[in-house]
Amino acid sequence: MAGRTIVVDPGHNGVWTTALNRQVPAGNGRTKPCNSSGTAAGRYAEHAFNWDLASVLVTQLRDLGAKVVLTRSNDHGSGPCVNIRAQITNDAKPDALVSLHADGNLAKGARGYHFIISSTMVGGSAVERQSRALATQLRNALDDGTDLPRSTYIGGGTGIHARTDIAGLNLIRVPGVMLEVGNMRNAADLALQRSPAFRKAVATSIAKGLVRWLD
Ligand code: ZN
Repeated sequence: MAGRTIVVDPGHNGVWTTALNRQVPAGNGRTKPCNSSGTAAGRYAEHAFNWDLASVLVTQLRDLGAKVVLTRSNDHGSGPCVNIRAQITNDAKPDALVSLHADGNLAKGARGYHFIISSTMVGGSAVERQSRALATQLRNALDDGTDLPRSTYIGGGTGIHARTDIAGLNLIRVPGVMLEVGNMRNAADLALQRSPAFRKAVATSIAKGLVRWLD
């Protein structure tokens, strides 16, 4: 991946305060809060999982020769708003953005991962198509490389779901995806999320998918 730049966005912040409720532009004519607190389960907060996973992914991508830009530099503070994360992404002029999250769905039996893509990107339809192709490559790599199934509750079994309300995707001019790495409210998914070996396997899968997509 020499010569390539990837922006890695560990979703949410180490510390959430009510100040993060202020509305910011979200693209597609919408506004939304600067940032949300994210989910949590069993005293494992989503922001911490996102950070733990991002740390492994950053190491792997740098080992492959990529330049990596993070949207927040630690898991202690109240990092940037979602619109500023998009600006960080655009300013880095990367090949792609990968935003890392975990879901918090309370439906019985809801588990598995899914990719979110935007169908209303400021980058336009070409960037939307590239983002869908990236999501497809990353999904195939996750299917091969981890024990986490595709989402049972969103995406109709494809593991990919298009939305219009995600600021960090709407506002970027480069290909990007958001990955919900399982459902923290599901015990089986949470057990995987807590596992360093699982997080490493997810990072390896993302790196492989990126390499294939860039080829
Ligand atoms: Zn999240």
